[in-house]
Amino acid sequence: MERILIIEDEEKLARFVELELGYEGYKVEKALEGREGLALVKAQPFDLILLDIMLPGLNGIEVLRRIRQFSDVPIILLTARDTVVDKVTGLDTGADDYITKPFAIEELLARIRVALRKKREQKGTSQILETGKLKLDLQAREVRVDSHPIDLTKKEFDLLQHLMENKNIVLRREVLLERIWGYDFGGGTNAVDVYIRYLRAKIEEPFGLKFIHTVRGVGYVIKDE
Ligand code: CA
Repeated sequence: MERILIIEDEEKLARFVELELGYEGYKVEKALEGREGLALVKAQPFDLILLDIMLPGLNGIEVLRRIRQFSDVPIILLTARDTVVDKVTGLDTGADDYITKPFAIEELLARIRVALRKKREQKGTSQILETGKLKLDLQAREVRVDSHPIDLTKKEFDLLQHLMENKNIVLRREVLLERIWGYDFGGGTNAVDVYIRYLRAKIEEPFGLKFIHTVRGVGYVIKDE
């Protein structure tokens, strides 16, 4: 299930979009304020963000700028009519698209589908994930640390890939469990800890390097040093 965050201070609009996207099968979270939205993006992975420009406190452009410092998640700006400057600034700052309020929900859904498809296509073409001395070749399903090949099981590889694709974002155990093991897995979040230990024993300990960081009581993150 694709996860979408809407950052929008107009509560009625935010709730309407949340409901409609829910009907379409997206999992939606909402934030009514820029800082709150930014905190959510740092705390969990989203597949797409709908971001209002005119927000109280931290405005949308500033939120966008800060998200782009650590994430390339697709972002669609929600703009008021006649704010050409904001649109241009938004696209220059790294927004993927914008839609002018008031919009028809069908149009918003179409824009979302396009942005998500683009993202999937990009993922398909960038075959190498890299952080420091750790390299993942997605096509060959090869992992190397400092050019030494590492032998990983499928689950270990999937887990590492997911962490690398969400670099610098803390992934909760529950999220990792759902994404790697699926909804039906009955084993509990313990499985995640066990596989993180397996990974560390293979990619960190033999080399005296650290890629995976534990966030106590929350989950795990791979950081760019
Ligand atoms: Ca607003």
